[in-house]
Amino acid sequence: MHLIFKPYLLEFKHPFGVSSNMRTHTPTVFVRIEHKGLFGYGEACLPKYLGETTEETLSFLEKTKPIIEKLDFSFSVKDVFDHIDSLSGKHNAAKAAIDIALNDLAGKISGTPFYDKMGFGKSVPVATSATIGIDNAEMIAQKIEEANEFSILKIKAGTEDDKALINLIRQYTNKPLYVDVNQGWTDKEFVLDMLHWLNDKNVLLVEQPMPIAMKKEMAWVTEQSPIPTIADESVKRLKDLEEIKESFTGINIKLMKSAGLSEAVEMVQYARQNNLKVMLGCMAESSCATSAMAQLMKFADYVDLDAPNLIKNDPFKGITYNRGKVILNDLPGIGVELNDPGFFDSL
Ligand code: MG
Repeated sequence: MHLIFKPYLLEFKHPFGVSSNMRTHTPTVFVRIEHKGLFGYGEACLPKYLGETTEETLSFLEKTKPIIEKLDFSFSVKDVFDHIDSLSGKHNAAKAAIDIALNDLAGKISGTPFYDKMGFGKSVPVATSATIGIDNAEMIAQKIEEANEFSILKIKAGTEDDKALINLIRQYTNKPLYVDVNQGWTDKEFVLDMLHWLNDKNVLLVEQPMPIAMKKEMAWVTEQSPIPTIADESVKRLKDLEEIKESFTGINIKLMKSAGLSEAVEMVQYARQNNLKVMLGCMAESSCATSAMAQLMKFADYVDLDAPNLIKNDPFKGITYNRGKVILNDLPGIGVELNDPGFFDSL
């Protein structure tokens, strides 16, 4: 097999704001594993707050080369992933890129979509939220207008005055909202008051209201909350779930945190066994990683896979959107194709 990778900058249609920063681009690294004319694609998306740089990602991928290049068609994704995972305690995004590409290639070799290969079956179209980043009033109005076809909006909160933000949104739309606080609130009484207030504003869930360290306070809040609380920053990999399962109603699984599709599947299984709701999320990824995650849509209580819709230079096509619903295709593997077949030729 042959592994190549290519760093790339994904460009937002609009600068994207969350409570900690504002950005115009997201660095990503695309991966291709080739075997006898078949290509498996993967992606390591690297928003700054993840703490994984392009340079470190490339050097980790370089280390996986000898492992990948000696494989033949009978490889086991799980065995290869475990080997690569054992090389380092970090680099979840780089590991995800390899795991996604291997799963894609395995599907291409057998001619089956990932969802069939795993025995899940194809999900019906599911409504995704469309994310509205932190912005000024005029831009928020414009973004709501642009998200017209989506039936759920995800609001990035954790601003100076989140009630004012939600009231502003409510001047333009009555659509149900997901509110993502990105650890922005620190007082548990305040959080509980906010959750009650948001419940009256047709908010369906709140993501990561408090900092990671406030597990006990989160458990207190979740116990009394009128709406589901979803862990995002508090959960990366499967091993994190035991510790937070009492603190939240559900978990937001993202491939760049879980180190790929294989472990995301295990996290879904854990969540179902432990009465945790499942949200499928993404970074500001291309259609490559997002289409991989959408393979698990059958198990999702909430889907937040709108990233390709926020990006203007996506090299891939995969999942599509119709009236705000994510549609899977019937292609093998993770169901993606390059817009320009020569994309990897210029490295
Ligand atoms: Mg989040």
